[in-house]
Amino acid sequence: MDERNRQKRPGIPTIYNGVRFRSRLEARYAVFFDKIGWPWNYEATDLDGYIPDFLIDFEPGILLFEVKGMDEELDAAEFKIEMSGWRQEAVVASGQIEHSNVGRFLERSQNEFLWDGAELFFCLSCGKVSVRPAGGNWRCRVCGIGSRGGNEHVGEFDPREAWSEAGNRVQWRAA
Ligand SMILES: [Zn+2]
Repeated sequence: MDERNRQKRPGIPTIYNGVRFRSRLEARYAVFFDKIGWPWNYEATDLDGYIPDFLIDFEPGILLFEVKGMDEELDAAEFKIEMSGWRQEAVVASGQIEHSNVGRFLERSQNEFLWDGAELFFCLSCGKVSVRPAGGNWRCRVCGIGSRGGNEHVGEFDPREAWSEAGNRVQWRAA
């Protein structure tokens, strides 16, 4: 990443679990992922034009997870992902987590990019926190159930407690 791009990403470098994150917000997401049992990797791959923040290694398919500080950055992030050659699903999260909608979800399809709201939910089948596009296929991205479009597995998840705990964890971990 060149100096110009670096300057676009303000933040306090923060170490969590031996990984140095560019910002406290990114570190907080890593703690949050640990709390909900998501197997994350930070800046693990180099796509065409950019390095995604996180890849979440779900069994049915890897989810790209990009963290943005402000809503205004979401469009640019979506464009970057579309141009990057990534052909699996993606989430672009917007700042702090305040409710189950955490940003935008890119649903995988043959030739188009389908962006929708990204909803966290509790999967009643695998018992894990999962994520889905608000108006798209509600299949559990963690265990794969519901691939025919059913919603019997979809329960509610309020992320505020885990997010709050994640915040406490990174407060004293600034590098
Ligand atoms: Zn599931």
